Amino acid sequence: MIIDCHGHYTTAPKALEDWRNRQVASLKDPASAPKAADLKISDDELRESIESNQLAKMHERGSDLTIFSPRASFMAHHIGDFNISSTWAAICNELCFRISKLFPDNFIPAAMLPQSPGVAPATCIPELERCVRDFGCVGINLNPDPSGGHWTSPPLSDRAWYPIYEKMVEYDIPAMIHVSTSCNPCFHTTGAHYLNADTTAFMQCLTADLFADFPTLKFVIPHGGGAVPYHWGRFRGLAQALKKPLLKDHLLNNIFFDTCVYHQPGIDLLTKVIPVDNVLFASEMIGAVQGIDPETGHYYDDTKRYIEAAKLSADDRYKIYEGNARRVYPRLAAALTAKGK
Ligand SMILES: [Zn+2]
Repeated sequence: MIIDCHGHYTTAPKALEDWRNRQVASLKDPASAPKAADLKISDDELRESIESNQLAKMHERGSDLTIFSPRASFMAHHIGDFNISSTWAAICNELCFRISKLFPDNFIPAAMLPQSPGVAPATCIPELERCVRDFGCVGINLNPDPSGGHWTSPPLSDRAWYPIYEKMVEYDIPAMIHVSTSCNPCFHTTGAHYLNADTTAFMQCLTADLFADFPTLKFVIPHGGGAVPYHWGRFRGLAQALKKPLLKDHLLNNIFFDTCVYHQPGIDLLTKVIPVDNVLFASEMIGAVQGIDPETGHYYDDTKRYIEAAKLSADDRYKIYEGNARRVYPRLAAALTAKGK
């Protein structure tokens, strides 16, 4: 089985975006705010939005199951206040849950949180609980920068985040550390802000002792870990200078990287530098980079091709495709086992 741990609902029916636009417009006129119930999307519309897009590509490329969360750039936690984020997160999470019910063999949900800049992360817990309990979410996306590129929140090692970590440990769910739209013109959303955040999250963990407090806490750092694998020597050296344990002991029991790296040399480097036990297959299609690479004639985000071509043993490839995902997402493993898979 091939599990893609990083998929977003980027192809939702336009009614969702229209609803969000009305919600954003209502910031100036709260009386005009749309209600969650105003959004009407039928099962047929949901089916159609998936069958001709993500599901078609999964069949073409040969992946089986996607961990599916709301569109990352649309989370836009910087817009409005906690109540705005809360209603929006609830709607987006429910749509991913409905997709997982319509296509139970191919999609399993992960939740976005109703984060808001300057608001305590603990406020997200009721939505987190609802998503795990009622929707069967197997993970969450945690935004280390709800301000959208201005980095006004404390680092991930700060105790303000601990209530979320306590809940993650209780539920045995990992968090993918995933920012959203950049509203800072210095940072392009997917080309700079995402990769900066991946690198930043890793460094925040390196300088702290978060995993001494939470030995079973798990983070998935997407987009191949940003600059981390490429600069592994720098991070090892910094850890050494800070008198931290070796990175394999300090961070690699808790931090994992996905394979959303869109060329062969990048995947070769990732799988050579980072222990294979810490690499999870992912493509993030249909996402940031949707074109065809003229050098290969294949889609950049068809990452299975790179894993196939990488110098890996069959056992290592199994870990990247399936074994590691089952270990990092125990609720996914339990759901699969319950189905006899
Ligand atoms: Zn993503």
